[in-house]
Amino acid sequence: MSEVIIGVDLGGTKILSGLITPDGRILKAIKQPTLAAAGAEEIMERISASIKELQTYVSDSDQLAGMAVGAPGPLYYPQGIISTTPNLGWENVNLKEGLSRRLQRDVIVDNDGNLAALAEAYYGQDDKYRHLLYLTISTGIGGGIIINRQIYRGRDGGAGEFGHMVIEPGGPACRCGKHGCFEAMASGTALAREASRLLQGGGGQKIRECAADPNAPEAKDVAAAARAGDLEATGLVTQLADHLGLGISNLVTIFNPEIVVLGGGVALGMGDLLLKPVTEYIRTHTFKLHSNDLPIVLSPLDQYAGLLGCAIAVKKYRITN
Ligand SMILES: [Zn+2]
Repeated sequence: MSEVIIGVDLGGTKILSGLITPDGRILKAIKQPTLAAAGAEEIMERISASIKELQTYVSDSDQLAGMAVGAPGPLYYPQGIISTTPNLGWENVNLKEGLSRRLQRDVIVDNDGNLAALAEAYYGQDDKYRHLLYLTISTGIGGGIIINRQIYRGRDGGAGEFGHMVIEPGGPACRCGKHGCFEAMASGTALAREASRLLQGGGGQKIRECAADPNAPEAKDVAAAARAGDLEATGLVTQLADHLGLGISNLVTIFNPEIVVLGGGVALGMGDLLLKPVTEYIRTHTFKLHSNDLPIVLSPLDQYAGLLGCAIAVKKYRITN
């Protein structure tokens, strides 16, 4: 009898649920919009429904080894209580209790950045590295810290909330309420904001041409204009890369990882356009000891890192409990 795991990646815009094998194959996946405004109870109902649907795909010859959910942090681990999350607008939601009660079964709830970092370490990088930093660059910035092949959690489970370290005191407002956070300076949202500012000032003609809605340019529009050789767009990408490089340089200096993996829609969508200047920034703003031969790579797991991390979380949880 072989084992399968049910995993759920709860994001700000979509919920991805899947039936996964312990070696990281996704047998069946269900994607649905989060519609966060509906509130925690409604979303827990929908997650439970998708898990129950996946359970019907578990064949008689397979055994369900466990269930895990990755959710935006910061959240208390192992209690699975979301403390406060700008992504969903939730505060003090006991996701673990709410799902375990509905499903009549223990559900592991962990930070989505932690689970994605685990997946990168075990599946994405073939378990070659003991010390890994993972960052997801999308509308926000999240991540996870792997030390000695384990998630580093800190006291309550809140370690690795990279997006909310302040890199520019008094900088742009962040959705967490502070100013100058890493994600307010170096995410897709930050790039879109700077592009809007440029367009409002009468510049950014090429970005305007690339945008579906010229009043609301997106990160991908800036990337398209930069790829076409536009100097204003290239300037915005360079600024974004400098801010990303600054934050990652600090993390590299603190943790001295063996590898840095970048995922998320903005990092993967921009590819080398962003990776090259970020890598260059890190090489020139850290000690040689930290950055010499340090691989800085794009995630090979794409949008599935969080989901795949659920499989490892279930395996590890069984060993330690
Ligand atoms: Zn913040």
